Amino acid sequence: MEFDTKLIHGYKYVDPVTGATSIPKYQASTFQQLNFPNNQSYSYSRFGNPTVEYLENALAALENAKYGVCLSSGIAAISSVLLTLHSGDHIVLGNNVYGGTKQLVEELNERYGVNFTCVDETNIDSWKKAINSRTKLLYIETPSNPLLSITDIKEIVKLAKDKKILTVADNTFMTPYYQNPLSLGVDIVIQSCTKFLGGHSDIILGFVATNDSQLYQLIQNNRKEFGFTPGVEECWLCMRGIKTLAVRLEKSSKSAEKLATLLQNVDGVKKVYYPGLSTHDGHDTHLSQSSNGGMVVSFELESEGLTKQLLKNVTIPIVAVSLGGVESILSYPWSMSHACISEEERLAMGVTPNLVRLSVGVENVNDLFLDIKNSIGGK
Ligand SMILES: *Cc1c(COP(=O)(O)O)cnc(C)c1O
Repeated sequence: MEFDTKLIHGYKYVDPVTGATSIPKYQASTFQQLNFPNNQSYSYSRFGNPTVEYLENALAALENAKYGVCLSSGIAAISSVLLTLHSGDHIVLGNNVYGGTKQLVEELNERYGVNFTCVDETNIDSWKKAINSRTKLLYIETPSNPLLSITDIKEIVKLAKDKKILTVADNTFMTPYYQNPLSLGVDIVIQSCTKFLGGHSDIILGFVATNDSQLYQLIQNNRKEFGFTPGVEECWLCMRGIKTLAVRLEKSSKSAEKLATLLQNVDGVKKVYYPGLSTHDGHDTHLSQSSNGGMVVSFELESEGLTKQLLKNVTIPIVAVSLGGVESILSYPWSMSHACISEEERLAMGVTPNLVRLSVGVENVNDLFLDIKNSIGGK
């Protein structure tokens, strides 16, 4: 079955009790023990809920994973994975992972003695050098945020397998439609369903996929014990959102590629970052592990004044944090996602006051282009 068919039919979406064409919201915290003292499948919704499980099975099917766990946010998903580690264990991760992930790893280090090393995610040698005898986990996010730098997934997997180290990939930017880290040998895939999977900027939700039953048990236990349980309403909305994933992403990624190409020739635009452009540093590696350049384009303007002008004047994209909605979202990493990082570090990583990130929605691409061009008065 092709992926776009799978999005509609590749999992159970009909209610077995009534035939309803959408799974009901089992909006209940507890379940009457019908055959007391015999156990039944559901007892309390922090431990398990039918609506949540239907979504877990659907998302696992999309990732080609044996097991899936939904959690209350993308960060809860990341926490549930990192909290399988012990004091003294060591993580290697890219310099440009999601800001919340970096913060979490720093806190885990400070309070619980889980050590970490950040490396240039594009350079396999720097990963190799960072590994020590306590290293338990390599954490990748490709393309990275906001400069969309690329990590070679297969090389990381090779490095890890030799030393029996776990590999984890945050696949939020590409979704299972365009990139399948599990099929490249990664042990755990993480999604912030808040973004493209939900697709409508109306939920906060996370997901973890794996083929390893032991890891699945540990992550599920963490969800129960730390209380990372997702809401029923959110899971239902995500189930609704994934049905249109292919149509949304095909339109958005096509527009993103066109915008990336056109923006290169607009006066006032200094540099465009998009993995689908042949001039992008990681272009070949990206297309060896992903089937598309993606829905996110970042670009640098000639001056801070022009950047402020763009953010003030655009009428179609909303100016906000986050990505992956049907509406285009224009973010300003300098003072939004990356504000907590020191100025010096931001500049060193290429996050300048002239950089913006555009998550391309499903609006007409010509409208989007003209809106951006006119906002900066470019020709
Ligand atoms: C948004 C995001 C997260 C965090 O997800 P939440 O649902 O906000 O907790 C993690 N990783 C990436 C790449 C993201 O874009």
